[in-house]
Amino acid sequence: AQSRYASLRDLPAQARCGTRIKLTMNAGLMADLPSLASSGAEGVGLFRTELQFLVRSHVPRRAELAAIYKRVMDAAEGRRVVFRTLDIGSDKVLPYMKPQDEPNPAMGWRAIRLGLDRPGVLKMQMQALVRAAQGRPLALMFPFIATAGEFDRAREMFDKVIAREQALGHPAPSGIEVGAMLETPSLAFAPLSFFRAADFISIGGNDLKQFFFAADRENERVRRRYDTLDGSFLRLIRQIVERCDEAGTPLSYCGEDAGRPLEALTFAALGVRALSMRPASIGPVKHLLRRVHLGDLSDEIQAAMDRGVENLRPVVLGCLSHD
Ligand code: PEP
Ligand code: MG
Repeated sequence: AQSRYASLRDLPAQARCGTRIKLTMNAGLMADLPSLASSGAEGVGLFRTELQFLVRSHVPRRAELAAIYKRVMDAAEGRRVVFRTLDIGSDKVLPYMKPQDEPNPAMGWRAIRLGLDRPGVLKMQMQALVRAAQGRPLALMFPFIATAGEFDRAREMFDKVIAREQALGHPAPSGIEVGAMLETPSLAFAPLSFFRAADFISIGGNDLKQFFFAADRENERVRRRYDTLDGSFLRLIRQIVERCDEAGTPLSYCGEDAGRPLEALTFAALGVRALSMRPASIGPVKHLLRRVHLGDLSDEIQAAMDRGVENLRPVVLGCLSHD
């Protein structure tokens, strides 16, 4: 499949109307990095940092992590890599962590909640990232932020880490971006000041969808029950786009749906200008994107949403067939 799209690799991800969409890839291992060049991704929009913690029998040491992050940045050759801080706890149990007995682990003590309550590991990870950057730009984002206050606290922790690293003689990154993953519906309703405070926002659609429809992403019985192109979900996405536009904050979408061509086009039509996906999806998404007039698609989707059409899939398919 990769070769079918190889000719597209160096062509811009641009719709017929001229709108550019930034296509980046998701990664989590050093072994994923060669896909940057082969897929034509513009960077890594989501680097999941859990794996380095899951494959070991002990908490990785700071120097070990810094070396890994440095290799990732080196391999990206100047392209932006967004490091997502640890999203562990509950369902992703570390071998060396005391298992928590939680009835609903996905809604439990995980990700940034754990990081704020037991900051040791998160701070160590932040230090490793600063040391790996060695004066280069650094982008990191916090998973599972549910309130503006959680973002402020995580950011404050990071600011302190940077100040301390500098005091210790480590060079500060040349530029710092701190973003939030929007993967709980509550954050879509946060005050505008939150959208202004974040340097960027990335929609974690896998979790956002599971909590929006109250449908467990791990449960085969219900996980495909609700369509991403359901009007209600798209109204939520539209609202997030509007809030980010109002605040002037860049927005991306990094859940699995960003790599599904129809979904990707729909998000782009609603104003999401960056999508992060598995490398193999870059070609198919770019292929379709280059064939459509996003402005026209947007008009049709918005009109259908305002008419109260319950599911937008037939509308999107219809637009593509006469495009
Ligand atoms: C998501 O929730 O959409 C996401 C990108 O994060 P993860 O799949 O790792 O939970
Ligand atoms: Mg998630």
